Amino acid sequence: MAFEGLAERLQGTIQKIKGKGKVSEADVKEMMREVRFALIEADVNLKVVKEFVKKVSERAVGQDVMQSLTPGQQVVKIVKDELTELMGGEQSKIEFSTKQPTVIMMVGLQGAGKTTTTGKLASQLRKKNNRKPLLVAADVYRPAAIQQLETIGKQLSLPVFSKGTDISPVEISRQAIEYAKQEHLDTVIIDTAGRLHVDENLMQELKDIRALKEPDEIFLVVDAMTGQDAVNVAQNFNEAIGITGVVLTKLDGDTRGGAALSIRSVTQKPIKFVGMGEKMDALEPFHPERMASRILG
Ligand code: GDP
Repeated sequence: MAFEGLAERLQGTIQKIKGKGKVSEADVKEMMREVRFALIEADVNLKVVKEFVKKVSERAVGQDVMQSLTPGQQVVKIVKDELTELMGGEQSKIEFSTKQPTVIMMVGLQGAGKTTTTGKLASQLRKKNNRKPLLVAADVYRPAAIQQLETIGKQLSLPVFSKGTDISPVEISRQAIEYAKQEHLDTVIIDTAGRLHVDENLMQELKDIRALKEPDEIFLVVDAMTGQDAVNVAQNFNEAIGITGVVLTKLDGDTRGGAALSIRSVTQKPIKFVGMGEKMDALEPFHPERMASRILG
């Protein structure tokens, strides 16, 4: 299960302070030392850990907390609030364009789960938002990726715009947007090419697609299992093309949680969805507060 180690350690630490009738600065200090270890062990970005510990400590030793009737519980609430804040506070909404069609670019490195997530997202937007999606097979370098998207489209009974491999990613995206207008498909989801590493060509290609019609969303798909690498990838993509949000996949695995807890703080971009399995319905909106509750028990 995801966050298992982190949850166990934080819950253990918190239990100690929760019932205390009086909390001293030394108690807070000791708790925060354990919280710090727990976060580092969960592969959270070091700078993020430092800032988190500083914020919680400052609030926890405040007069209003120390002199309250239930200081232990107050401290626990502060940890929960700040953990929620770390992951973005509110749940973030998806943006739809007033000018048809809405364009969503899916970007990311190979293997992160981009094509799978493209299908999941389309299915969810149709079901929950009543949208009419068009999937675009713009990963023209890998015939297998095109085939995979076609298979997903068939499985979900959703249209896939696919022109094989003899077309540029920009041209297929351009044609797809035109096609969507003609067919009154209101949401174009472009499955862009993934590479093994972040590189100049990839970024240029994404910028060229972006220039066709300003995308309403640019979702970066990253694999939660890759921890701090996922955070670095997010930072690179965000600096190069400006993402609007992150989809964190494979949260059904036993990830330690570092990516989930660091991405927002490092990139200032929210995690919008999480992938919870390989099936097409295994995509969930990301709720920072619920996630914090899950971790803290
Ligand atoms: P792409 O190269 O980024 O397009 O990656 P794919 O969409 O082909 O996904 C790579 C692998 O990860 C596939 O086997 C997917 O089934 C799997 N995958 C994608 N998302 C998830 C997820 O949320 N959980 C799990 N367990 N597997 C996932």
